[in-house]
Amino acid sequence: MGALYRGRFAPSPTGPLHAGSLVAALASWLDARAHGGAWIVRIEDVDTPRCVPGADRLILDQLATCGLLSDEPVLWQSQRGALYQQALDRLIASGRAYPCGCSRKDIEAALLAQGVHRERHHAAVYPGTCRPENGGLQGKPARAWRFAVPTGQAPVHWPDQRLGLQSQDVACEVGDFILKRADGLWAYQLAVVVDDADQGISHVVRGADLADNTARQMLLQRALGLPTPVYRHTPLVLGDNGEKLSKQNGAQALDLCSPVAALNQAAACLGLPPAHGPLGQVLARWIGHTAQHQG
Ligand code: GLU
Repeated sequence: MGALYRGRFAPSPTGPLHAGSLVAALASWLDARAHGGAWIVRIEDVDTPRCVPGADRLILDQLATCGLLSDEPVLWQSQRGALYQQALDRLIASGRAYPCGCSRKDIEAALLAQGVHRERHHAAVYPGTCRPENGGLQGKPARAWRFAVPTGQAPVHWPDQRLGLQSQDVACEVGDFILKRADGLWAYQLAVVVDDADQGISHVVRGADLADNTARQMLLQRALGLPTPVYRHTPLVLGDNGEKLSKQNGAQALDLCSPVAALNQAAACLGLPPAHGPLGQVLARWIGHTAQHQG
């Protein structure tokens, strides 16, 4: 089992690590170590407008300060466009991806015409306007590429190692999602699926805010003939306002004056016992605990 375990931590360099991202980093590192596996850091910098210059290096430094070092060279997604294009080409060739010419306004109008009133803050389910069977682009220029989510099928199920059995009806709840954006940037869903498979990732341990993406990623894996990793979604750290800590809502960068103190905060969130002493000993204690309690 150990040799087959390959885990990863895949931060987006939109700012320094905060208390919430350290939980995911620590959980994925401990799970890999407890299984005698490899842990790899991947910088997810495809959404370039949201990336902050230098944040990638800062994150790697913060991880190193906490004793969390990638076992293999760190990858930057911004350098892997050719792989994503190959995957998109395969999806196009198998009829699973199609060009979409809809603007946000077109989508709103089509939904309104269908009598669908969208709740505020709820992402619109793409109404399928540019699906080939609905006539395709009909003269509009192609803006983005979408995945043709299979319709009329059972919801996608997966056993999450912490959350239990999960399920999502992607066609109803999400619709045909974007693979390549109108601005030419690769969508997270495609990049993450291609990279997890290319890097041989067997176990994905990440924050629970990402759980909702899993079913989409599984559909892409199936369409591309790629294996599905084991998923575990870790608890989120909530800020004083009760919302999840995120760079978007102004989470403070980690205070790493004392890495052991910062790690203890993250560990508490994972249900690990407090540990004190030299960094190496603290981490070793939690590896033992994780190996015992997670199997
Ligand atoms: N890059 C994503 C983030 O920082 C994480 C992606 C993943 O773990 O699948 O939120």
